[in-house]
Amino acid sequence: MATARASTTSLTANGTAAAAGRQPSGSPRKERQGGSMKIYLNGKFVEKSEATVSVFDHGLLYGDGVFEGIRSYGGLVFKLREHIDRLFESAHTIMLRVPHTKDECVEIVKQSLRINHLTDGYIRMVVTRGTGDLGLDPRKCAQPTVFVIADKIRLYSKKLYEEGLSLITVATQRNVPEALNPQIKSLNYLNNILAKIEAVTAGFEEAIMLSSSGYVTECTGENIFIVKGKRLLTPPPYIGVLRGITRQTVMDLAASLKLQVSEELLTRHDLFNADECFLTGTAAEIVPVVSIDGRTIGQGKPGPSTKRLIEAFRKVTQTDGVRL
Ligand code: PMP
Repeated sequence: MATARASTTSLTANGTAAAAGRQPSGSPRKERQGGSMKIYLNGKFVEKSEATVSVFDHGLLYGDGVFEGIRSYGGLVFKLREHIDRLFESAHTIMLRVPHTKDECVEIVKQSLRINHLTDGYIRMVVTRGTGDLGLDPRKCAQPTVFVIADKIRLYSKKLYEEGLSLITVATQRNVPEALNPQIKSLNYLNNILAKIEAVTAGFEEAIMLSSSGYVTECTGENIFIVKGKRLLTPPPYIGVLRGITRQTVMDLAASLKLQVSEELLTRHDLFNADECFLTGTAAEIVPVVSIDGRTIGQGKPGPSTKRLIEAFRKVTQTDGVRL
């Protein structure tokens, strides 16, 4: 039996880290102080130590499954419906039946936060093909496995949000959409992990992945944007990127900041000569980028539009969302 535990790279083990780059908002609820953690697993809440799945689960054997990472801020679950919709779309494409309605999924996420006394949290919802045999035939898996972990997350230090991130382009290309479409948020993240390993080995926190034709796609767990004049540019989904929910939020916010948004094919040259660059993701939020492959981006510090977007994003996360 394998334990469904928090990964050391993405989820904090002790559950004490504040949301990256943010002060924890004062909440009336008591936040969990470590210790007991309850995990939703196949219809009931169990202690973390009992949250185990079979070694015959095809999520583990083959990465055959889908997932979502969701955030709550001050008791408001941000873009919850959008995350559940994307989960169902990913599942539909891989012909995996989610054994719950969307409304039930919303409730399970809310309950997971409530039962763990979390108002500011990170929620991981996972649906795998379930337990089968050693062959990869999904028909052998009778029942999908569903689990939900509610915890805290911190990807980068506060300093990094203030000073900006340095990126490196890596040799590992993003999955070709015709083979494994990055719009499917599947449990198979080896493409991203290989790129992450290259970045970390070279002494960088995050990697830019290119398409097979050399266009910029995304980072290992974030979408990428550049600002050029009054334009906000990001690669189009067809080049092979996840249609990020934070990406969409930023695109929606851009109009109010008088930035003209467009999805365009971008080269490394476009990135090097951008005025500003930043990454977006549920866990990372908005991360300023100040250097790429040794080239300084803009003034070498987080740019004014990036800062305004971070501010606007913070505001929207405090007011929008599904209340616990
Ligand atoms: N790209 C990849 C590969 C990701 O894993 C993520 C994180 N889910 C993102 C982009 C950002 O997507 P979102 O804003 O929906 O979290």
